Amino acid sequence: MSIITEISILEISYLIASVLFIFGLKMLSHPEKARRGNTLAAIGMAMAIVTTILFHKVDGEPIGNIVWILSAIALGTIIGWLIAVKVKMTAMPQLVSLFNGMGGAAAALISLMEFPHISHELIAEHGMMNGHTIAILLGLVIGSVSFAGSMIAFGKLDGRIGDIRASFIRYINMAFLVGIFGFIIYIMTLNPDSSADLMPLAYILLSLSLLYGIFFVMPIGGADMPVVISLLNSFTGVAAAMGGFLYDNQVMLTGGILVGSAGTILTILMCKAMNRSLLNVIIGAFGGGGQSADKEAGAIKEVTLTDAAVLLSYSQRVVIVPGYGLAVAQAQHICHEMEKLLEEKGVIVKYAIHPVAGRMPGHMNVLLAEADVPYEKLIESDEINPELPNTDVVVVIGANDVVNPAAEDDPGSPIYGMPVIKAWEAKNIIVMKRGMGKGYAAIENFLFYNDKTRMLFGNAKDSIQSLIGEIKNL
Ligand code: NDP
Repeated sequence: MSIITEISILEISYLIASVLFIFGLKMLSHPEKARRGNTLAAIGMAMAIVTTILFHKVDGEPIGNIVWILSAIALGTIIGWLIAVKVKMTAMPQLVSLFNGMGGAAAALISLMEFPHISHELIAEHGMMNGHTIAILLGLVIGSVSFAGSMIAFGKLDGRIGDIRASFIRYINMAFLVGIFGFIIYIMTLNPDSSADLMPLAYILLSLSLLYGIFFVMPIGGADMPVVISLLNSFTGVAAAMGGFLYDNQVMLTGGILVGSAGTILTILMCKAMNRSLLNVIIGAFGGGGQSADKEAGAIKEVTLTDAAVLLSYSQRVVIVPGYGLAVAQAQHICHEMEKLLEEKGVIVKYAIHPVAGRMPGHMNVLLAEADVPYEKLIESDEINPELPNTDVVVVIGANDVVNPAAEDDPGSPIYGMPVIKAWEAKNIIVMKRGMGKGYAAIENFLFYNDKTRMLFGNAKDSIQSLIGEIKNL
């Protein structure tokens, strides 16, 4: 086969792969088509990998190290497969962070590998001040920040690492940022015989970036975590796109840009939903950081299954607020069953979806879509809030921080200013949780002591199951 034909095959396959990525991503925006979208994008990626191995030429020669490449693919596939099969749904957010970190690490390693091989002609003509070097250095920095940051996010989501909210960290972070950019500029002003001579500088830049990734995510926590997760996601995309520039590889560039821009859009949407600016998320924290108001907690009132069943069955409007506990209990299917049962009795049931409910962006949408809850029933918090005063019962299932009134009435609270679902405005509130455990932000929730609130203690799945039995018996 002539070289021209091989190059055309490669380019056409990259074009098809890029189109598959775009359609795949588009389909991910709807829960019903998301699975097919994922498969489509995976086919695009597989196609790009296979055609690259078969048709890519290095200095006119087919690529070598085939055994190494295939072994790495086989190893990665087996590990990825095993993890995907074994992972619990509740550990999904951690897994996403881990995988995102791996993408960042891969981009950083590519930069590290390519740094000593910047062409001598390029260096002789422009010194280190050239596009190739910029792509390598940015890939190295952004990829390593994404890797280190994602590992810290993984630790936080897994409950292994707490928040360090000391304000001096923001100064350390600013120093790191200035240091990293200063160092990049310094490297680019150099004029070495070979870029390989500057390898120690590349390692220093790598270390600075890894440390920055750690310190950048360390102080961010609570309600700001989702923003950081989507930001890290966009970093990985941008780092991969740098690899695309470096190798002049269209499919890597398209893939990177798609992930980068999708992550950036999600970051902006999350910031908007949380009423925060990105700068505020990165250098500040929610709330005044002061002392929380010393409130007198009232008494906790429990509700019996029969009373809860009667209340729900004779309501006109019920709003379910799902949270992380629903995911832990894997109660989405049974919850959908209860919703259908109530609707058969003429009750209008809707779900209030808070943007940061659960542990990953879109967590509740994914969970409820898995249980075939119609998409139109999922109402975003700012749309459902005005309906709550006319709602007979709000049923909070495993949610805590996203219904915490402290976000509105306690300026000292770490979540003060975060938009929440105003469950307390409904006529009645039923809260299903196992005990008086706190949410992710680890703060007290006075909704549970509200006069209108009644607690239904127990694992959410068991409680709903029993409630369904009672409703059927009425
Ligand atoms: P929370 O984490 O605030 O609360 C979950 C509640 O569920 C707990 O209070 C717990 O109480 C209860 N629970 C746990 N297991 C069960 C079970 N099996 N059955 C019944 N209840 C259970 O959840 P929210 O969804 O309200 O808030 C999400 C929090 O996570 C926010 O602070 C958000 O910022 C943060 N976050 C969100 C991310 C995202 O992208 N969505 C990412 C990272 C963090 P008990 O132990 O008493 O049962």
